[in-house]
Amino acid sequence: MTVPTQPSRAPTLRLRVTAAAESIVRAGHPWVFAGSVREQSREGTTGELGVIFDRKDRFLAIGLFDPDSPIRLRVLHAGKPAALDDAWWRGRLCAALAKRQGLFDDTTTGFRWIHGESDGWPGLVLDRYASALVLKIYTAAWLPRLEDVTRLIAGELNPERIVVRFSRNILDAAKAAGWQDGAVLELASGTASAQTPLTTFRPSTTHSWDGLVTFQESGLRFEADVVRGQKTGFFLDQRENRRRVETLAAGRAVLNAFSFSGGFSLYAARGGATGVTDLDISAHALSAARRNFALNTSLEAVARCRHVAVQADAFEWLAGAPSAKFGMVILDPPSLARREAERPGAIQAYERLAGMGLKALKDDGVLVAASCSAHVTEEEFFGAVRRAAAKSGRRWKELQTTGHPPDHPATFAEARYLKCVFLESL
Ligand code: SAH
Repeated sequence: MTVPTQPSRAPTLRLRVTAAAESIVRAGHPWVFAGSVREQSREGTTGELGVIFDRKDRFLAIGLFDPDSPIRLRVLHAGKPAALDDAWWRGRLCAALAKRQGLFDDTTTGFRWIHGESDGWPGLVLDRYASALVLKIYTAAWLPRLEDVTRLIAGELNPERIVVRFSRNILDAAKAAGWQDGAVLELASGTASAQTPLTTFRPSTTHSWDGLVTFQESGLRFEADVVRGQKTGFFLDQRENRRRVETLAAGRAVLNAFSFSGGFSLYAARGGATGVTDLDISAHALSAARRNFALNTSLEAVARCRHVAVQADAFEWLAGAPSAKFGMVILDPPSLARREAERPGAIQAYERLAGMGLKALKDDGVLVAASCSAHVTEEEFFGAVRRAAAKSGRRWKELQTTGHPPDHPATFAEARYLKCVFLESL
């Protein structure tokens, strides 16, 4: 395994940053914004390593440089000087893997191995789906070392396949670097090692595989389209909230709004829901939900549960939905604030959505409301749902609020996107 510490032979790229940025980085924050860079020893290239020296000319941090991103440097290591040699990279990977040891038994074969910055891999995500891995890249700064990173991962985890995906904003850069989105690296299991020649890791686009993987979550079987599906094919981050839904679903008619492939629905069904209505704007998501029900009909509770799929805009559908129809309403919309400027509107939308969800709930019903908008804080989101509950004029008990699951750690404020609240009407 050779992860080059410098893609070029140019002298080390040295940076100096503002005093404020120095303290932020020293405190462990992984981003240095362009506006914080005071000096730069030379022009840098995408993905090369940049070293920050502090006011006293001491080593402060080393990270991935990106001249085209507002996040100019993504910190890989801060503190004592370190050489990012092969052993360092392997150690960084093994630390992320070790963090997940003991979290899941063999009834959960879909989970996150690497969660970006919070695992020391800025802008990089690695998910496991049974014997396939999905590596998703969110910054062009990884492109020069992507082949090496892939080989390192293959050697350590021995998957049958690695699917490499890119966020939309770096698709052109990835293409220019010779990578196709959804490239599948076929590896006969057990053959990858640190010595495997690089050519083995060239993406193949001629494979016959359809990109569908069946994996298990808490003993339920799910199919994920890991090549084309949203995120990496499944919303692995909602696992713990789904488990809570299972414990609350018995005897209830459940509405799962923004259902995607029916993740919450299958848990509700296994937990004894009398029926589940999946509501999503995407026909594709709803057919995946139908297939996921079919995959689990050997479970009596799932076979018994009436499954209905409704393709509609959830905001419109809920506005016209009959009152007091459901015993449980789950609201898990896509991010409603993709930019900071959209934050106030998103908070209002969360309140309106919760209000409509509450209206559709029976008197002893349970509302499950989630938000995945990083720009909306926990206080703002929970505040919006609580306001909606207060305005409904009914009496409520807050059962629980939740945040990030252990395989999706969030070590700094901007990384905290997921929150969920469970309310029970009395
Ligand atoms: N709860 C899901 C994840 C939801 S992702 C799970 O646990 O897997 C958000 C979903 O909302 C996507 O499936 C998307 O198709 C759907 N969606 C987006 N906008 C929508 C809208 N206006 N009305 C209904 N569904 C919508």
